Amino acid sequence: MNKTPSASQTARLTVEQFLQEYASHPTYTPPPGTELHAKNWQAEAALRMFLNNLSKEVAEAPAELVVYGGTGQAARTPEDARKIIEVLLELEEDESLLVQSGKPVGRVRTHPEAPRVMIANSNLVPHWATWEHFNDLRKRGLIMYGQMTAGSWIYIGTQGILQGTYETFVACGEKHFNGNLRHKLLVSGGLGGMGGAQPLAATMAGATFLGVDVDPERIKKRLDTRYVHKMTTDYQEAKQWVLEAKEKGEALSVGLVGHIGDVLERLLQDNIIPDILTDQTSAHDPLNGYVADGISLAEARSLRASAPDRYKQRSLKSMARHVGIMLQMQSRGSKVFDYGNNLREFAQQGGEKNAFQIPGFVPEYIRPLFCEGKGPFRWAALSGDPEDIRVTDEALKKLFPENRHMIRWLNEAEEKVAFQGLPCRICWLGMGEREKAGLLFNQLVREGKVKAPIVIGRDHLDCGSVASPYRETEGMKDGTDAVSDWPLLNLMANTGGGATWVSFHHGGGVGIGYSQHAGMVILADGTERAERCLRRVLFNDPALGIFRHADAGYESAQENAEKFGLNL
Ligand code: NAD
Repeated sequence: MNKTPSASQTARLTVEQFLQEYASHPTYTPPPGTELHAKNWQAEAALRMFLNNLSKEVAEAPAELVVYGGTGQAARTPEDARKIIEVLLELEEDESLLVQSGKPVGRVRTHPEAPRVMIANSNLVPHWATWEHFNDLRKRGLIMYGQMTAGSWIYIGTQGILQGTYETFVACGEKHFNGNLRHKLLVSGGLGGMGGAQPLAATMAGATFLGVDVDPERIKKRLDTRYVHKMTTDYQEAKQWVLEAKEKGEALSVGLVGHIGDVLERLLQDNIIPDILTDQTSAHDPLNGYVADGISLAEARSLRASAPDRYKQRSLKSMARHVGIMLQMQSRGSKVFDYGNNLREFAQQGGEKNAFQIPGFVPEYIRPLFCEGKGPFRWAALSGDPEDIRVTDEALKKLFPENRHMIRWLNEAEEKVAFQGLPCRICWLGMGEREKAGLLFNQLVREGKVKAPIVIGRDHLDCGSVASPYRETEGMKDGTDAVSDWPLLNLMANTGGGATWVSFHHGGGVGIGYSQHAGMVILADGTERAERCLRRVLFNDPALGIFRHADAGYESAQENAEKFGLNL
């Protein structure tokens, strides 16, 4: 029996009433509970996740519609946001909304098992795919930067990257420190939307952590959401805290306000060489992301607007200096890796010739997981009730009792992760597992064990959904790093399979010109329709990862293709 509430069971608000209550710019809130505001749960799911992305608990700067990742937006303008909401409230089950770089542009005839929303963000014909051309269009209101999950409405706050960051730090510990990060100091820059996961991931992995961010407000947000333990503006104080903690083997995390280049220089002068060193400043955008050194944050903001070319040159030079110090640390024994923000490329453009001597985190630590079709599977409880996530956590532990790694992760996450916005969970799952998990969630909804439907999605940083030669596809065995047929095939497979919304973006993670990637979200609303779609999409999506890596010559992917019957 399907207990999912339907529109006819509740008195719907008018569009104006809805906008007033849940979307009065810049205050956005997803409506909680089991009442439907749209005409069906598929549109309601997209609507709630869109509003969740923009809510103040989740978005880094809701007034600018910026969700995370430098300038990653969920909609182009407040008017576009309003129109997206209006259309979603009225969308029928045989229609789909088209969104072009954050602007709703049309409604097309489809069918109930087709995506309700189809999104294309920031795409440019390759020859024109530069920040300069993009910024010119952006200034004229003609395009928007969607990052990865901002423009595809499945950003879930800092937790979204938490497990990936944790897996990376653990893999680094296994590779270089016999699997033990106690008494080890991990240093990184950037405590923003994604970078803010680093302190919690590092301490969960057992390390002592020092994170440096130039913007005190960003560190405060991490304190409020329990991602970092302590904050200071004083270098000496931060140094003393982390050195004492490292000595005692204490998993302490400290956020220090400062420019990462300046802090690394001081650490070097003080002869403090981090055991692990990486970076998650928004280096992918030299103009509006990375903060150049020698100027305050406020000065940087005004220079960006008044002299963008001068600012960009200054920013590139600062990155060259920053990476130069990282290389010195590397030569003195620090395990240094690039963490997916394109810092090496821009440092090279700024004059640091050896920037690419720093390895990327995917070939170094993550690719073996991609060969199993594994990646950052995530889900959110549309009811807004944290109890629903607890129910899904427990059900997953029962479904996969042999997966001790996953159970340990879920136990840690339950204890340590504070929710931001709609309660949600991230958990890396692979081929086979994702389909089983999706069907289980659909059953929980059908049987009324959770209060409302659940949406399932993932990062675009996944095994078969991205072409990004300085990140996910760096150093592919057959040299196909820049071939972007794969994310397009992923988009087509998920559209054909019946994901609830799909997206295709350019420039996420590493910036304009450097990546193309696809996103998908699928609803588990307890219906048979959902079950059919889940079976197709949650099979096809990780299968694309195995196809991609098997084709590139990775043996473990070829074995998995055989195991899951994926060979032609
Ligand atoms: P964000 O814009 O929310 O945060 C970036 C932070 O860097 C800000 O808090 C900013 O104040 C700080 N910063 C900028 N320049 C600095 C400097 N010179 N010194 C100190 N702090 C500085 O971005 P985010 O969502 O945290 O993403 C960070 C970067 O990581 C982006 O480039 C993004 O594309 C990339 N990213 C990586 C992954 C991954 O899996 N590794 C995933 C998503 C995003």
